[in-house]
Amino acid sequence: MHDREWLNQAIQTIEADYNRSADTHLIPVHLPAYPNIDFYLKDESSHPTGSLKHRLARSLFMYALANGWLHQKSTVIEASSGSTAVSEAYFARLLNLPFIAVMPASTSPEKIAAIEFYGGRCHFVANPGQISAESQRLAQETGGHFMDQFTYAERATDWRANNNIAESIFSQMALERFPIPKWIVASCGTGGTSATLGRYVRYRRLGSGIACVDPENSVFFDAYQHRRQDLTLDKGSRIEGIGRPRVEASFIPSVIDRMLQIPDTLSLAATHWLSKKIGKKVGGSTGCNWIGVMQLAQEMHQRGEAGSIVTLLCDSGERYAQTYFCPDWLTKNDFDLSDAGWQIIDCCEHGKALPKLKQN
Ligand SMILES: *Cc1c(COP(=O)(O)O)cnc(C)c1O
Repeated sequence: MHDREWLNQAIQTIEADYNRSADTHLIPVHLPAYPNIDFYLKDESSHPTGSLKHRLARSLFMYALANGWLHQKSTVIEASSGSTAVSEAYFARLLNLPFIAVMPASTSPEKIAAIEFYGGRCHFVANPGQISAESQRLAQETGGHFMDQFTYAERATDWRANNNIAESIFSQMALERFPIPKWIVASCGTGGTSATLGRYVRYRRLGSGIACVDPENSVFFDAYQHRRQDLTLDKGSRIEGIGRPRVEASFIPSVIDRMLQIPDTLSLAATHWLSKKIGKKVGGSTGCNWIGVMQLAQEMHQRGEAGSIVTLLCDSGERYAQTYFCPDWLTKNDFDLSDAGWQIIDCCEHGKALPKLKQN
């Protein structure tokens, strides 16, 4: 019973934090080259911890607490390429629990600083494919709890509603010219966001399609196309937050209507273009999303269709000042964005088609 008192308090602490928070904005993006299509960005960078992982972290903590997996002295451990760990560090500190993030050594310095800012500790591994196994080992060693976002993301969130990201988007679209988006575009890290969106539109019998974009060095695109669970890669994605070297349990292909594979140069060029367009720096996964949006807009445009497309602004570009927004870093990593930059201007500003993408 003593434990139940702590649990009540912990759940109330998280609910009170939610009660103090506002919803994230839905930002319209006006493209005169597409007069019959309205574009929107759900700005998840405006959460207190700066990304869509704030929602996931809250859900994972609530799920772990309700399952009786966390106790007064539990060390909380997560396998994370950064953003989830930043958000979980925030909630762990709220509950006074120690937090360890297990992450690839290549994670951006800004994210490491953010985790440490919230009182978390970082534990690095050389091979991104090893972070889950290492997290499991640490949980055993400390007697703590491995949150395991890649397994639980799809089930920790209430997909029917409870102000999940899908319900929030649809309620914010209510007074728009085209309130039911033709497409909602997401990218997959855990796959949790696309699972919530896909289940919600089916459950509510809404006509929106869910399109997912996948970067290079990720198995999700091929896993979707061939419905295979066993694919692996020995390299990590270069777009932080999305693309995985193995098919995670949280990735639910059956609720995704379409998938597109996006070359990294196009994603990063779109990251730069969109940041200028909206006057606010966006992260690389948002650039990847944007290419998916433009491909779908092109198809609608060519068919003479009208409607709206919504995508997510997953995190802010401020986190990538020393990577995607640093000319030296781009050169060192063999990213020449000049051709891709012109292709994006042609598409977004002049209504021309993008180079052909791999898709199904
Ligand atoms: C996690 C993440 C995503 C993908 O969201 P999932 O719900 O995990 O699939 C996209 N962008 C960024 C920056 C992320 O951190």
